[in-house]
This record gives sequence, C-alpha cells and structure tokens, in this order.
Amino acid sequence: MEFPFYDSPDTATIICCHILKRQAPILYVSHDEDDEMWQFLCGETHETDEAKLVSLK
Ligand SMILES: [Zn+2]
Repeated sequence: MEFPFYDSPDTATIICCHILKRQAPILYVSHDEDDEMWQFLCGETHETDEAKLVSLK
C-alpha cells in the first residue's frame, strides 16, 4: 500500500487507545497547523493516559 500522506512517515501522531486496539473506528482526525501533529481519535472523551504517541506510518 502506498503511503497516503504528504507528511514524513515519522511525523508525530496522537492516537487513542481504542483505535490502537481496534476497538473503535477513527471518527475524528485533526492536523495541527502549528506543529504539524496529526490526531486520530474515536470521538469519545479521553484521559491523558489513553492517548498514545506514535509515528504517522
Ligand atoms: Zn478513543
């Protein structure tokens, strides 16, 4: 599969534990203009420890 992003594969990305464990679909995506960080979240509210920092790839 081709990498579908313009950003580098090692771009910092926040993903919630629900998506990481495949318990929930990605319903919320944001891309911050200032630090270029991506966020992939399931749409629920999260505690800080439920968010994981991964690379975009
Ligand atoms: Zn979640």
